[in-house]
Amino acid sequence: STTSSASASAPAPPEIPDGGESVVINLDHGDPTMYESFWKQKGKEITVVTSGWQHISYFSDVKNVCWFLEPQLVSAIRRLHKVVGNAITEGRHIVVGTGSSQLYQAALYALSPPNAPQPMNVVSAAPFYSSYPLMTDYLKSGLHKWAGDANEFNKEEPYIELVTSPNNPDGFTKQAVVKGDKGILIHDLAYYWPQYTPIILPADYDIMLFTVSKSTGHAGTRIGWALVKDREVAKKMTTFIEINTIGVSKDSQIRAAKILQAVSDSCDHANQKEAAESFFDYSYKHMEERWKKLREAVNKTQLFSLPSFSMETCCFSGRTFGQLPAFAWLKCEGGEVGDCESFLRKHKIYTRGGKHFGASSEYTRISMLSRDSEFKLFTERLPAIVS
Ligand code: PMP
Repeated sequence: STTSSASASAPAPPEIPDGGESVVINLDHGDPTMYESFWKQKGKEITVVTSGWQHISYFSDVKNVCWFLEPQLVSAIRRLHKVVGNAITEGRHIVVGTGSSQLYQAALYALSPPNAPQPMNVVSAAPFYSSYPLMTDYLKSGLHKWAGDANEFNKEEPYIELVTSPNNPDGFTKQAVVKGDKGILIHDLAYYWPQYTPIILPADYDIMLFTVSKSTGHAGTRIGWALVKDREVAKKMTTFIEINTIGVSKDSQIRAAKILQAVSDSCDHANQKEAAESFFDYSYKHMEERWKKLREAVNKTQLFSLPSFSMETCCFSGRTFGQLPAFAWLKCEGGEVGDCESFLRKHKIYTRGGKHFGASSEYTRISMLSRDSEFKLFTERLPAIVS
């Protein structure tokens, strides 16, 4: 064709050298590609083969409140929480979702009264996860509405408070902040895993959300789970998913079950043999190294600062450490550079600015979960920036 002959005679585009100043480093999304290298070593042990006749039915277990939840996934979730000690599963209903994002929406649906005169207020303490306001309001529901920073909520009205701990974007451990008795809590524990934070206690809240996206790094599998105390709430969450997507992909659930079992197995093996490394050993060491490198890079400049975290002992690993968050909440110091996201963007580092999280634009959020090559480029470029 004309196009191909034209391109055949056109000069080759100039080579962009790896690591050159012109390469964009995109650390806006929390895409957990960092874990890819661990899973590559696992090979066959973690491969799932599906025949054409399998997983055809809509149904998984009609006796379960969540009738589209695969029994293998139930066992894998209960086992992993027991191994890690990060959440109580006894006496809880499990609801599976297409990511914990779907479960967040299912929980809002389940907790908002259907016939109230006003939509239910939904709040979270700033800085809050940037998707909460978007997911709460994008369908302009009559059931619920985003009501902003929980620290500023003082209406004598019912509300749902989202507690994200460790928090996205700043990594701190969080508790509910609204002082009132009209609230219902949802705990988003996506990052309550021992590579990010010392595990202090098994979490024991009414509604707890988890996801493979941040625990094992399988964001593309799109599987999350909710541990729910109240049977009626679990039923309504299930109804939401039934109306929304008539269940959750079985292929993905089976894959998630295999991955979670492999993580528990890796912990058991590491306990039995000194030489074996569990998934959480691997990911903890990797995160620790990255945070060390990032703090070194930040300390070489006067322009930026990072949060500091107090040390605690992890009941799972026995290690004493401060948080190693999945995101760095970077502050541009001294007001010299103004908007931190735009400033870094000029240097081809893409991040998500404070405004998205209900915070000041002096802050920006940077993913710590990219591939090694991208993270290395970032820690080399950051100290080279001058205002
Ligand atoms: N909650 C928090 C706090 C998150 O950071 C994320 C992912 N960025 C999610 C929920 C959504 O995760 P999922 O991929 O399971 O939908």
